Amino acid sequence: MKRIAIYPGTFDPITYGHIDIIKRANFLFDELIVAVVKNPPKETLFSWEERFALVKKAVKEIKGVKVEVFDGLAVDYVQRKKARIIIRGLRMISDFEYEFQMALTNRKLSPTIETIFMMPSEAYSYLSSRLIKEAGTLGAKLSSFIPPFVEKALKRKLMDKSYE
Ligand code: ADP
Repeated sequence: MKRIAIYPGTFDPITYGHIDIIKRANFLFDELIVAVVKNPPKETLFSWEERFALVKKAVKEIKGVKVEVFDGLAVDYVQRKKARIIIRGLRMISDFEYEFQMALTNRKLSPTIETIFMMPSEAYSYLSSRLIKEAGTLGAKLSSFIPPFVEKALKRKLMDKSYE
């Protein structure tokens, strides 16, 4: 049986931290699907179409990785894909409580699905999409945190926002 893993997330926008997890997970499983949440509970800077397009471009060269969009419960989506593994990234202790709660809730909803946590390279262990957006607003140089085309999209987006 093919081992399919799903890496769900908001990816608003994708960072080198996400990409690091994608590469590590791809090494472990037969197939990896990066699943962009269409309507997350938090407000996003990028639309789902933009988040999806940026993820797709970021993983273009990583063989065996697919990118999809899903709506609704992650466990329902995982089951529809006939997969049993959810990948999540763990950075610092601060991620732990939320991720722990979510993994156990998902297990209650769907006992056959396992959540696997992976740690990024320490260079990305403090990196988050939220931080990138904040730093971008302040004009920071972001080239060590996000790919150049993501930086370009972010700058453009922040510029449009400031004119709104
Ligand atoms: P979500 O809203 O589902 O948390 P995110 O895009 O913020 O979506 O994160 C998706 C997953 O990637 C989460 O498990 C998060 O902990 C993980 N992640 C985000 N940034 C990093 C990073 N720098 N290193 C490792 N994992 C990360």
